[in-house]
Amino acid sequence: MNVPPSTIDVAVIGGGPAGSTAATMLARKGLRVVLFEREHFPREHVGESLLPASMPLFEDLGVLPALEEEGFLRKWGAVMVWGKSEEPWAWYFRETNRRHPYSLQVWRPRFDQILLDNSERHGVEVRQGCRVLEVLADEHGAATGVRFRSETGEGVLHCRFVVDASGQTGLLGRALGLRRADPYFRNLAVYAYFSGVEPAPPPDETNIFIESYPEGWCWAIPLHTGVTGVGAVVDSHAAQAAIQRHGAGQFFQQQLAMAPHTTRRLRKATLVSGPTVIRDWSYVSDEVAGNGYVLAGDAACFVDPLFSSGVHLALTSGVLAAAYVTTALKNPNMREAAGRVYKELYYRQYSHFRELAKLFYASNRSVDSYFWEARRLLGEDDSVSPRHAFINAVAGQPTHGYERAVIDRGEAPPEFLAGVNAIESDRQLRRARLLQAFPASGQTIADLGCLIPLLTAGASVDRKPVLGDGEFEWGDVLTTPARPEGVPVSAAVARAIALIDGCRSVADLLTALAAEIPPSTPQQLATAIVPALQILYVEGAIEEIWGL
Ligand code: FAD
Repeated sequence: MNVPPSTIDVAVIGGGPAGSTAATMLARKGLRVVLFEREHFPREHVGESLLPASMPLFEDLGVLPALEEEGFLRKWGAVMVWGKSEEPWAWYFRETNRRHPYSLQVWRPRFDQILLDNSERHGVEVRQGCRVLEVLADEHGAATGVRFRSETGEGVLHCRFVVDASGQTGLLGRALGLRRADPYFRNLAVYAYFSGVEPAPPPDETNIFIESYPEGWCWAIPLHTGVTGVGAVVDSHAAQAAIQRHGAGQFFQQQLAMAPHTTRRLRKATLVSGPTVIRDWSYVSDEVAGNGYVLAGDAACFVDPLFSSGVHLALTSGVLAAAYVTTALKNPNMREAAGRVYKELYYRQYSHFRELAKLFYASNRSVDSYFWEARRLLGEDDSVSPRHAFINAVAGQPTHGYERAVIDRGEAPPEFLAGVNAIESDRQLRRARLLQAFPASGQTIADLGCLIPLLTAGASVDRKPVLGDGEFEWGDVLTTPARPEGVPVSAAVARAIALIDGCRSVADLLTALAAEIPPSTPQQLATAIVPALQILYVEGAIEEIWGL
């Protein structure tokens, strides 16, 4: 088959947070991008409550001033009826995130519009009311363009790469049979919007409210429009039958009536729109990057909304997908390796939120019912490795949202708590040992001659694609049993790690390195290398430093 020359570089399917983010980042790299959105914005969408981890991404995209100007309410944390106590308890982002102590409660029609307008300002050609019908491929299966339908008829656009950010529609993932349902989250949501909802008492009036009850849990998210989004998450199987019998409206009322705090706050409320039912939303894709295509946001995978992680995952994957596409177009030899790293980085974030949501469900031990019992058992049935990875992620790492709250206020499984405590006390011990050995006044090379580092078994440094300025570039990545996904390190630190053999002292390492990197001296190198070795020791990548 003869493929006509591409008229553009990238076609993006979908103008939600994943699509608009990917498109903006691609346009920044000078690529010609056309974004297809089947709706006309502003369009409705669920998913209003954001995480503070997204704030730096908004800064990067250049939309933070517009979001602040819009007047979206600030979300400082959460009030929950969950875990040990039947009384609501509050938790605030500032407790674990001093740099970004709040996120936003966004009205999605405006939020998504602001992000899409930003893409257009960056030079993306946005075609609204334009539905992509299929992704075209050549005889090798490489994506070559899209067939679409707009108000004026059908058309074809050839391109060098396709980004599928079509949300739950998952146009390409479904066509290629990549999507797998998540057996753990077989949940269903019913939600609606109300005016006149009684606000939570100060200082929590703009925070998300989450209440667990015997048959599930419900949320209330206040919006700057004066309306509050209220929804219930329940068992999918049981709920579908009940909705068929009673209708969505009556089913929703029955559910809310079981949540006394939410019921009280809704006493004087008026229904504005809904209810809407969404089911089958938790899934993962076997592949997220292939020849000429990449999946981003909900088009690739989706976790239960308990942790409000959807938009954050969509934004992050939009940034990473754009880096993958840029790399594949500029440097085709790197495409496959970059695709693997895209999947690793995206799925690391996805797994983090998935494990966290599972832990949340398993931590609600005081409520007895089929809904909670089924989720507790499944939680405990799981293989050890993802849980271990999550324990590592929670212990001492920057938090995305509510990680600590569940540990402090829920009833997390004892083995999880023991795992987190063991990692955290080990880190504290290591920090204390370092503080004793490295006084604030600094170290001489002679002092460092007494310290002999020993690498943790299984730790290695490999050449891999790492995220640079909007694209992947070859770099050094340190992998350890606790961090199988790897951590990028500088070339000098990678070389220092390679020189660690259990016999050389830190001074010997610096001397050997100085001989390799003239005209530097061991003393000059010490200012960069010693702090890196200290971090690696606290993190456990260096098992031991003899002489400490
Ligand atoms: P979307 O935002 O869904 O965007 C996809 C776009 O693609 C849409 O605009 C659609 O019109 C367009 N499209 C689809 N097919 C085509 C086609 N063939 N051609 C052209 N265009 C197409 N997330 C949070 O962060 N916080 C929350 O509080 C939250 N609550 C949630 C509650 C529920 C019940 C559910 C189900 C989800 C919730 N989410 C929440 C998740 C959040 O809604 C999504 O993760 C997020 O919107 C994903 O962004 P996206 O860009 O990948 O997809």
